[in-house]
Amino acid sequence: MTNKRDYYDVLGVHRDASADELKSAYRKLALKYHPDRNPESKDAEEKFKEAAEAYEVLRDSQKRSIYDQFGHQGLEGSGFHGFGGFEDIFSSFGDIFEDFFGFGSRRHSRTRAQRGSDLRYDMMLNFMDAAFGIEKEIDIEKMEKCPTCDGNGCEPGTSPESCRQCQGSGQVSRSQGFFTVRTTCNRCRGTGQTIPNPCSTCKGTGQILENKKVSIKIPAGVDSGSRLRLTGEGEAGMYGGPSGDLYVFINVKPHEFFQRNETDIICQIPISFVQAALGDKIMIPTLHGEKKLEIPKGTQPGDLFRFNGEGIPSLHSKKRGDQIIQVLVKTPTNLNKKQEALLKQFADLETEKFSNKLKTILKGDSASTSR
Ligand SMILES: [Zn+2]
Ligand SMILES: [Zn+2]
Repeated sequence: MTNKRDYYDVLGVHRDASADELKSAYRKLALKYHPDRNPESKDAEEKFKEAAEAYEVLRDSQKRSIYDQFGHQGLEGSGFHGFGGFEDIFSSFGDIFEDFFGFGSRRHSRTRAQRGSDLRYDMMLNFMDAAFGIEKEIDIEKMEKCPTCDGNGCEPGTSPESCRQCQGSGQVSRSQGFFTVRTTCNRCRGTGQTIPNPCSTCKGTGQILENKKVSIKIPAGVDSGSRLRLTGEGEAGMYGGPSGDLYVFINVKPHEFFQRNETDIICQIPISFVQAALGDKIMIPTLHGEKKLEIPKGTQPGDLFRFNGEGIPSLHSKKRGDQIIQVLVKTPTNLNKKQEALLKQFADLETEKFSNKLKTILKGDSASTSR
């Protein structure tokens, strides 16, 4: 059997007391028996808890109706067991205490560290810088820890206080029927702390927007779509949380002469039909200067040649790709009389060669059909 006192007696109100009367009666008792005003008093502690329990039941119409009909036993049968301790009471009635007390004695410094945001920076590189790698300094605007308050948001010489509404826990409990729902404290936004004297530099946020120069080492071999991550170069964290990361997205400008296919570079070289026919040695630009290419006799338009290892290093293996050279055979224009005459002579010989060949083919055909 329970030896609890009647809840209406505890609060000193009539059985038909209104919500406002209950609240005001409870406030008076809570103020009188508050642990900050009665340190070390067991008796005050009991009275404080008793009043809280009475108010918890009577302010809730469902619990009140069960209590009115069935008393303490009825409530116990429905699963109500009062409060475990002060923390329960403060988290349930934080909003009531907030108006009345300036206490900060129930301090949990359980602040929730928050990681800073990641940042994105888009970088345009020229072809050669992407091929060889480069160190670049960029300017980024980001939230940094306030140097005046070192990120705690308090005017120097002052310190944060435990949030009165949630007693520093960052969460408040609200009763809904027989359930207790815990939600993030709206006063301190879950941090458990409030700042009585906000820092004048950052207005209490602990962070300021700053332009910062960040030096970035771009490795040889990056390409459009490459993404570099700079750990910790994002925005500063809050409440001791780590900084976010900075992601650099690379875009490479096209080159006039070189094209790129992963680690290979491709170029096109115009040659004359004479060079193609007779063969030649020509100098080809590469990433590392000029290199001699031997064009064999009888080279056809579109033929491909390869310089092994003259391409771009792989980001992963550092192994270089190749340079691929495609020849474009140019048809001559603006020929002078002599050149034209020589070409005609050449053409006549070609026609002769061709008709002889044709004759042989046709002869072969008739030979095979006559059988
Ligand atoms: Zn709070
Ligand atoms: Zn500050």
